[in-house]
Parts: sequence; C-alpha cells; structure tokens
Amino acid sequence: MNLVPSGCKTTPVPEPSIRHYCGLFGVYGHEEAVFLTQLGLYAQQHRGQESAGIVTTDGSSLKRHAGLGLVSQVFDRRKLEELRAPTAIGHVRYSTTGGNTASNSQPLLFSFAGGQVAIAHNGNLINAALLRRGYEQVGHIFQTTSDTEVIIHLLAKPGHQHKKHPLNHVLGHLQGAYSLLLLFPDRMVAARDPLGFKPLCLGETKCGATVVASETKAFDMIDARYVRDVEPGEIVTISDAGVESRRFGGDTGGRGASCIFEQVYFADPSSLVFGENVHLVRRAMGTKLALEAPVDADLVVPIPTCAKCAATGYARESGIPYGRAFTTSHYAGRSFIMPTQSGRDHAVKMKLTVIKEAVAGQRLVVVEDSVVRGTTTRAKIGALRAAGATEIHLRVASPPIRHPCYFGIDFPDQKELIANKRSVEDIRAYLGVDSLHYLSHEGMLSCVKMEPERYCTACFSGNYPMDVDEPVEKFSMERGQLRMFT
Ligand code: SF4
Repeated sequence: MNLVPSGCKTTPVPEPSIRHYCGLFGVYGHEEAVFLTQLGLYAQQHRGQESAGIVTTDGSSLKRHAGLGLVSQVFDRRKLEELRAPTAIGHVRYSTTGGNTASNSQPLLFSFAGGQVAIAHNGNLINAALLRRGYEQVGHIFQTTSDTEVIIHLLAKPGHQHKKHPLNHVLGHLQGAYSLLLLFPDRMVAARDPLGFKPLCLGETKCGATVVASETKAFDMIDARYVRDVEPGEIVTISDAGVESRRFGGDTGGRGASCIFEQVYFADPSSLVFGENVHLVRRAMGTKLALEAPVDADLVVPIPTCAKCAATGYARESGIPYGRAFTTSHYAGRSFIMPTQSGRDHAVKMKLTVIKEAVAGQRLVVVEDSVVRGTTTRAKIGALRAAGATEIHLRVASPPIRHPCYFGIDFPDQKELIANKRSVEDIRAYLGVDSLHYLSHEGMLSCVKMEPERYCTACFSGNYPMDVDEPVEKFSMERGQLRMFT
C-alpha cells in the first residue's frame, strides 16, 4: 500500500503494507532441481521479500545457501551451480515471528542424531514460545529466534526418533498454522496443519518429477501441472519409493481454518488457492459489492494494484466503465528502506502517480481490497480529489478488519486498525469520501466455494478457530533471549 503526494501539506507517514508471510517450493528428482526452485521462488516473491534460501540433497548430504534480500539478490549462477543436486527445497520469507536476520533465513538446516534435516515453514505456531521455554530450561541451545526451530528440537527428541512415524508425534505437539517442507538426505516431506490455515499444493513436471509449492503460480512458472492440494492434517513423503500419504491429528469434524485473507489480498491472482482461482474469487467479491452497494458514477478505478480483480467485478456488474486512475512505476525501488522520511516520500511519489486527465470531472467508484490503518487510502483519495474528481465512492471488497491475526500475518497492533472501535461513518469522514461501503461478511463467504466453517475469518469476525492463550508477537523470541541474558 503506497502513498501519493498530498499537496503542500505534511505528507502522511507511508503505511507499510500488511506483510505477506512465506512461500515454499520443493522439487524431488529432477536434474535441474535447483534452477526450478529458484524459478518457483521468483514466482512466489510476493509472499516474502526479506530473505530467500535453498537447500539441496544429492541423496547423501544436504547443502544450503540462504540470505537476506530478494531471490535475485541472494542467488546468482555460481551459487546455484554450487548447490546443484536432483532434489531441492526453497523458501522466501517475511518474518512474522523472529526478526529479519540472516540466521532466521529459511530453510533452516540442522544436524542431529537422526542425521541432517532442513525445514521451511509458512505460518505461525502459537505455542512456540511455550515449547521453547521448556527446552531452554533443560539446556537446549537455539540457533535462531524463529518459531520454526522448535519443530526440529521436537524431532530430535530421542523418544520421538524411536517411533514408527516421528513426524506424526512431532506435529501432534504443535498448535497454530503450519505448512511445512522438510528435506532429509533421502526424502522430501510436505505437511499441512489439521485446520489447513496456509495453502500447499502438489504438482508434477513434464518429466514426472514431484513438485510442491505454496501457490500454483510457481507450477505455471516451470510448466508443471497442479495435481492436488496437500490436505489439512496430511503428511506427504516423496522419495525414490514414490509418493506416500498419511494422516495425522484427530478428526476436526469438518471444521477448518483456511485463511480467507489469501483470497482477499495475499495470493497471486493467477494461483489456485484452496482449490479455486484467486482472480475469479476476487472478481466475484467485486460483483457482490456492486450488488450490495450500487452507486451512480462515471468510472470504476482500482486502488493499485491489488484491487484490480475486484474492480473488474464491480464494473461488470454495475455497467460502469472500468478505468485507470494511477500509474505505477516498477522501477522505483522499495520505499521503506529509505533512511529518511523525505526520502521515503519521494520514493513513494516515484512509485505512484495520478492520471489527472482520466479523473478530472469524474464521479469515481474507487475499489480497495482491504483497509488496514487507512492512512494510505486517505492519501490516495486526497490525490484523486486534488486531480479534480468530483465524487469519490469507496467500495472495499472485504469486511472491516477489527482483530489481530496470530497465525502468520503481520497486521499492525489492534489499536492501529482503523475499523477498531470506529463506525463506518467515522471512517468515511476520516478518509474524505462521499460514501463508503464494505463487503459484508456473508457476501465475502458467498464468493468462495468451501463451507463457511472451513475458513478462518478471525481478523474480520474475531471468531478465532482456536484458543490463543499466549499470543505470539513478532519479537517475543528476541525478548525471551534478552530476559535470559540481562
Ligand atoms: S486471522 Fe485473518 S489473516 Fe489471520 S489466518 Fe485468519 S483470516 Fe487469515
């Protein structure tokens, strides 16, 4: 979510977007595995831009390279050649637990009595701090401040290693959201938590190698075909013996917690997520919005760039022409790394420009996918007014966000959410629009195909799919360390 200039008044502080969490990719048994993994991570770069990593196996030992930055910054041809092997897993990360440090870059690689293992994780474990404290009290030393590392400490526990399926027992101790890829020297393992918070899919390359990804966009990138989702509560082991599936966790009674925000905002429109295309779901949300909140106007414009799909649906249903109000520069770089406020302001101006001639004298329907703090939406509305729009009707293709997420999305503090304790009329006045309508909760759920009880909608409804006794904050592990050493 970017910011536009607001005349000669003080420019509001740019609002960081809600950060995407992580993207996973793996390929078993392909001579170009490491290069396919690089492409698979590129395709999912929108899911995490802080760090990237790949671990490969030649069948006997694991090799790793990971670092801070984008996939293109972390890997070059030489690094990829050094990693070359027939099986690989990769990860792009935005830190939702644990800071943005090189040691937290995934996949994490460990050696223990059972051999080597690498792990890549998407999601947040809500009992990680509790598990970690227990291990630290008996002398375990942690190498990272990521919640993911507790999984390896559980796996290394001697009692677990002697079980027939150690991973079943390990996952039975975890609470929260996890889509996982693990790599052992002789096998790759994919697993998804019993409520299925995060997506994870299986695919197949043209030569028959099995691939795994968070989003099917990664399969399209390498000409692989989507086979099916890893089911909630399923462990899939891929080895020379083939693909083996087993279940873990109890029966959820048809309940699930697939993150509806994947459909609203996170996933790429080209992807299949939870078995349906994201663009079509968002377009349906725009259509529903037009039915719930029609308005007489000249032009439907998306707030770039995430709301394009919903704006298309609104325009089709309303019969109002769809158009552009902004141009976006792909070359302006990342505004939040600028050291000063004025630097960030200029970077944002470089990124987003109003097309004055397109909006002057027009009655606009502005479509947003979601509104978090509201500061950047307000700035964009201000820029449209300054460019001469005569009416601005804001339509938001999701309900108001009123509650924090504990399962892997880096929402701001609840107090900073604009819809927390404010009425829609108050928000309308703050944003400076002529009318404001959010998609209803029922409307949102009518646009996705699974039953409502199979989605998590907690950030909208406050109806959490599990009890959260000790909410995980992003830096709670760092704070735990400080407590230990001061
Ligand atoms: S609280 Fe919201 S963002 Fe978090 S998992 Fe649930 S639906 Fe997704």
